[in-house]
Amino acid sequence: MKIKGSTNIVGLIGHPVEHSFSPTMHNAAFEKLGMDYAYVAFDVDPQNLQSAVDGANSLNIKGFNVTIPHKIEVMQFLDEIDEVAALIGAVNTIDFKELKGYNTDGIGAVRAIGEVTPIKDKKVVVAGAGGASRAISFYIAKYGAESLTILNRNVEKAQSLASDVLGSGLIDDVKADSISEISGYLKDADILVDTTPIGMHPNIDDEPIASAGDMHEDLVVFDAVYNPNETALIKEAIRAGAKPVYGIKMLLYQGAESFKIWTGRDAPVDVMEKALKDTLNLE
Ligand code: NAP
Repeated sequence: MKIKGSTNIVGLIGHPVEHSFSPTMHNAAFEKLGMDYAYVAFDVDPQNLQSAVDGANSLNIKGFNVTIPHKIEVMQFLDEIDEVAALIGAVNTIDFKELKGYNTDGIGAVRAIGEVTPIKDKKVVVAGAGGASRAISFYIAKYGAESLTILNRNVEKAQSLASDVLGSGLIDDVKADSISEISGYLKDADILVDTTPIGMHPNIDDEPIASAGDMHEDLVVFDAVYNPNETALIKEAIRAGAKPVYGIKMLLYQGAESFKIWTGRDAPVDVMEKALKDTLNLE
């Protein structure tokens, strides 16, 4: 890839950003398609967020991904927010054409799950009630799930998120409960989404939220954790004969959706997945 006078810039703003996989993934895609684009990571101190967005807009930067800690605060500096991103209350993608914010994290997860089963009319259990859960829960509602049950250690947080999702009018069966009750809910569930960090490197041996005995063969089990690729929860799902969905797919598809927003072109997901796996040292 050669940087030229005509090269379009997209990138990532966050703090810190140096461990991000997005530059590798997107630059592999641009190279594959022979597109005159480059993806760069910018470490932006929170106090400089507005000037970073204004400056990028003035510099004719085409798009940004947005990561921690800027996903919520950045919204006030944009002209427009996508409808679901507004419900979520966080954006991870900016398109500078309209200075518009989107949230592709949730789309990434539902697209990953959608490779294995449609979400429409399914009973979905989501573990965790933090940022990832919020993004995914609204998209599960948008994609027509029959019911959504949010389970969390802090039950009040689960109740608050459940009430927000219910209030969106996208779904009319939303419950909240303690994560300790998970085995009872899984008996009747079609899809389990784990958005807790349990099992994430280096804590790979921590006890997962559910074991094979809690699962059934028709259950689809998605773990948002992508390092390691095969988490303790995914191992339990395989042991139960359930259908695993790997966290790396969410990372991949949120990137693919951002790519499409910025360029109008379908992302070469095979190339992006290979770049991600190479970077993460996965097979
Ligand atoms: P977050 O906002 O901090 O939320 C974490 C959630 O997990 C909270 O609901 C918390 O419960 C729960 N939790 C944490 N430790 C727990 C434990 N030991 N037992 C039970 N529940 C526990 O974090 P986040 O931003 O949502 O991220 C969560 C995970 O998703 C991370 O591992 C992250 O790497 C992953 N993720 C993956 C992708 C991807 O592309 N694959 C994208 C985004 C995030 P309390 O409320 O009770 O504390």
